[in-house]
Amino acid sequence: MKLTMATNIYLSLGGNLGNTLEIFKNVYPILEKKIGPILQFSSIYQTKAWGNTQQADFLNQVLELRTDLEPQALLLELLSIESDFGRIRKQQWEARMLDLDILFYGQQVIQESNLQVPHPFLAQRKFVLIPLVEIAPDWTHPILKKSIQNLVQKCPDVSEVRKLDL
Ligand code: ATP
Ligand code: CA
Ligand code: CA
Repeated sequence: MKLTMATNIYLSLGGNLGNTLEIFKNVYPILEKKIGPILQFSSIYQTKAWGNTQQADFLNQVLELRTDLEPQALLLELLSIESDFGRIRKQQWEARMLDLDILFYGQQVIQESNLQVPHPFLAQRKFVLIPLVEIAPDWTHPILKKSIQNLVQKCPDVSEVRKLDL
């Protein structure tokens, strides 16, 4: 008998403004079907695209899910969901589609060539930390050994991250 151990994970969703709200809404049931139940949703935040002002603003959200998938299987599913949405979007808008990143996989530390968890840049990015702190203020970063609340306070990123009024 195979025992499966469900793990709590945090995922970041990102995309350019436009159809992004629609894409986010459409991706939730797919995540629930392919990955596992969504336990928490952060608000959706809007961030200015860095440097390139021609580019539309980004929307970001963080979700907590529970999954039976191993980390590499989880990554494969996320990449396949991204490309499904990417294909639809690309024909129509030629913009960057959906970005799905694994922020945390329980308290595991993964250093593989195609997968690093915790996500290596999360502590530098307000657009990740601000939605994350809403749903996981006391979660500990397994490498930095600091809470998300603490990481937000220490984050040097000065970009504006604005909560969308939906
Ligand atoms: P960034 O990592 O800076 O946010 P990105 O999300 O734009 O960059 P992508 O082009 O979406 O980068 O992804 C490139 C590759 O990153 C993926 O194919 C995947 O193998 C790898 N990767 C490594 N760690 C992770 C992770 N924690 N979550 C998702 N992808 C990851
Ligand atoms: Ca990313
Ligand atoms: Ca990515």
